[in-house]
Amino acid sequence: MMLEKVLYINLSDKSYSVKARRDLFERYIGGSGVGIKLLTEECRKETEPLSAENPIVFAVGPLTGLFPFASKTVAMFKSPLTGNLGESHAGGRSAVALRMAGYGAVVIKGASEVPIYLSIHENGVEFKDASALWGVGSSYTVGRILRERESKPGLRTIMRIGAAGEKLVRFACVATETYRHFGRLGLGAVFGSKKLKAIVIAGNSTVEVEDQKRYKEVYDRIYRLALDSKLMKKYHDLGTAANVVPLNKIRALPTKNLTQPDFEEAEKISGEFLAQNFLGRRVACAHCPTACIHLAALREPYEDEPYFYKTTMISYDHELIYSLGSMLGIGKAEHLLKLIDAVEKVGMDAITTGVLLAWATEMFGAGKISEKESIVPLAWGDHANYIKAVNFIAKQPNQFYKDLSMGVEYASTLYGGEEFALAFGKNEMAGYNTGPLFYATLLTGARHSHLDSAGYSFDEKMKGKNSAEEGAEMLVKEEAWRCVLTSLVVCLFARGIYDEQLTEECLSVAGLKIDQSMLAEKGAEILKLKHAFKKEMGFEWRSMRVPERIFERDTPAGRIKREELAGIVEEYFRKLGL
Ligand code: SF4
Repeated sequence: MMLEKVLYINLSDKSYSVKARRDLFERYIGGSGVGIKLLTEECRKETEPLSAENPIVFAVGPLTGLFPFASKTVAMFKSPLTGNLGESHAGGRSAVALRMAGYGAVVIKGASEVPIYLSIHENGVEFKDASALWGVGSSYTVGRILRERESKPGLRTIMRIGAAGEKLVRFACVATETYRHFGRLGLGAVFGSKKLKAIVIAGNSTVEVEDQKRYKEVYDRIYRLALDSKLMKKYHDLGTAANVVPLNKIRALPTKNLTQPDFEEAEKISGEFLAQNFLGRRVACAHCPTACIHLAALREPYEDEPYFYKTTMISYDHELIYSLGSMLGIGKAEHLLKLIDAVEKVGMDAITTGVLLAWATEMFGAGKISEKESIVPLAWGDHANYIKAVNFIAKQPNQFYKDLSMGVEYASTLYGGEEFALAFGKNEMAGYNTGPLFYATLLTGARHSHLDSAGYSFDEKMKGKNSAEEGAEMLVKEEAWRCVLTSLVVCLFARGIYDEQLTEECLSVAGLKIDQSMLAEKGAEILKLKHAFKKEMGFEWRSMRVPERIFERDTPAGRIKREELAGIVEEYFRKLGL
């Protein structure tokens, strides 16, 4: 059944309309393809990210609600962190709820004068007063209140912001179902600028398929691959936290602001250690048999009540262990979990927060800032002061924390330390110091994220070789295919299952005749559309700042050379014809 309905919402005059946009879904599939097309239609070069004109686009795909792993919702917006393309994906129940409410995509523009939240369902949109919720700083609490207040039947998702979104922290996130996030690039600040505290989406419809027998056969095959093969085992057993020890062993785990490529205490914050000592349960996005979301149960005594304990469930994965653990020199699991929880509560992107605090710690250690700015001393491993600093970023009690709330690129241009401010295209780096192809990904990727392609794993394959040609070829091919998967909103962890042939079969069951060569063409087209949007917004890779630090430290692929990195990036854009 072809997706076609796009819900357009205007927060300024509290109106909405629904348009049939079959054209969009036919050409760009859904998810990131439809998202970037809608963003291109709605966002101008001069649009300020925190203005009413900045659109928020959500899109799902044709396999959502039908097949396992088609569980992501893609958000597109102009990022307040980078001033360029903002693309962020979240799972939970968001995608299925949106599809069951009958929509393929939602475009939200305008801004409300008073705090509101949206209730979206099959019969339309309700604009509800959120004055009592505004100021509730914990995104957990906002979710809890709305769960009780919005008791609509059907599959439901609750997207909401915490204190950081309200205070327009440029890397504030939007949480959905407590443990999933539109994490990167500041969607939470865009919500905050529109006085939009939350969106509740609930739906009850179903997705029809013509050939039930074939549907069951393909569905079962995917299900069995997920459960019986090794493809998803890592994600189920330890989650991406399984990466910590191997990366540390090959000296690719950025530590203490990349002053070291490995962490002496990595074992104590590893996926294995957390699973053995803290794992409380695993949870899954809707329609996912893998359940990669690992929740630690942190049991802490109440201060004044003997033998009374509270248990907090805290989700962790590799990126959180890297950014709030090794990058900050935190080697005690309890301390790491408490810091993760603090970041989750205020609703900030964990990667950006960790990289920012790592830069601030190095600045403090070098005497370039003092307690006059940071209020508390910042030192590797001092989780208690990091928790205070997290809350200061969210509340901005002085100019320094106001500046930190803009991200490390901005802060370093004011205070110095640009050579070790680890952002690329103004987006803070992810946790893989594997070699030149990983860093090329951060320079070329549409969202400057390791998720754009698999540069970190290509580094291993390219070890010892120095071929910009081959490396760039791998990046382009992989990134175009990932554009197909993210347009289908298939979780990228399941990319080993969804190869070209299976994807074609799934689409055929869903009533779409798109063969493998057409899929490849669409992937390339969507990738180019993202780059075209970025160019229109002023992106030019040659003028991007590359932090000196990455050329001064070893990677498993050796020391990175500036010319080598530039050669890969040059070749990447040449291959794309850009
Ligand atoms: S593998 Fe993990 S992130 Fe992906 S859909 Fe399943 S639970 Fe969600």
